[in-house]
Amino acid sequence: MQKIVLSGPGQVKLIQTKTDSSLVPLLDIGACGICATDRKGFLAPPPSMQLPLVPGHEFCGIHLPTGKRVVAWPAISCGQCTHCHRGQTNLCAELQLFGLHLDGGYQQQFSLPPSLVERAVFMKIPTGLDWKQASMAEPVACVIHSLAMVENPPESICIYGAGLMGRLASRLAQYKWPHCLIEVLDSDPIRQELAAKTHGREHVDLVFMACSSSTAVNDALTRLSPGGHMLMFSGLARDRNPLAIDYNRIHRREQTLHGSYGCLPADMTLALDLMAGGNLMVDDLISNVANLEQVPDILGNSRNPREFKTVIITQ
Ligand SMILES: [Zn+2]
Ligand SMILES: [Zn+2]
Repeated sequence: MQKIVLSGPGQVKLIQTKTDSSLVPLLDIGACGICATDRKGFLAPPPSMQLPLVPGHEFCGIHLPTGKRVVAWPAISCGQCTHCHRGQTNLCAELQLFGLHLDGGYQQQFSLPPSLVERAVFMKIPTGLDWKQASMAEPVACVIHSLAMVENPPESICIYGAGLMGRLASRLAQYKWPHCLIEVLDSDPIRQELAAKTHGREHVDLVFMACSSSTAVNDALTRLSPGGHMLMFSGLARDRNPLAIDYNRIHRREQTLHGSYGCLPADMTLALDLMAGGNLMVDDLISNVANLEQVPDILGNSRNPREFKTVIITQ
């Protein structure tokens, strides 16, 4: 089988290999999305990355034990800690992420050590979704997870960042709160034009951070209404400018800042259902489809503003 192996900063290659006989084969992978996290890991692998490693955490395929088409939840949780007991498995202290701590989806067959097999979580893909669409379940689910932190429908929302996540946030907010005024802002003029959503309100009830710019965070905080919520969805760039968080302003205005990290299996099931039911369109955001041989080139080239999601078809 073919797999992509990352061995150091910028070092990635396609290799032909047999499945390791000490592992249990679980999926014949159909597709795997390339995430911004994968690109960052390729350029500068974080210290927690277990190299050499197969990147990718947005994958789906045929579940070998059952023959069903499934999407993988992108991690293994311990099942023992307080957060696992509360059902917050994305916050597990021992979380092992595919494509970071364990081999991920840039390969034809996904397998795990026998001790982890029971803890892997897969969601059945509804009929009508192809591999490309199903591979979008994880990014869609992360946005669903974040928006679910806001209980009352906001009157206005500003989404900072018009990349894939910002565009998904705009669509899911529209679906969830049909009367909400939605603005999507991006410093890139092409992305801004493609998103085409501005309302120009001075103050907004809800802010969704889908970019890594601290300047955008500072701007968002000054626009947040009293009683407003900020969803801290995207991490910030390492070389960021200082944040201008005014503690007293947040205190006096009763504002709420929500950290938001990853998703839960239930969010992925909802994502699949929304796509299969025709309530969320993603096809136009899948801008590139490639195969495993093309992955080194794709990771090596910088992304153009019209690229939203690249999906690798692995078979
Ligand atoms: Zn991702
Ligand atoms: Zn745990």
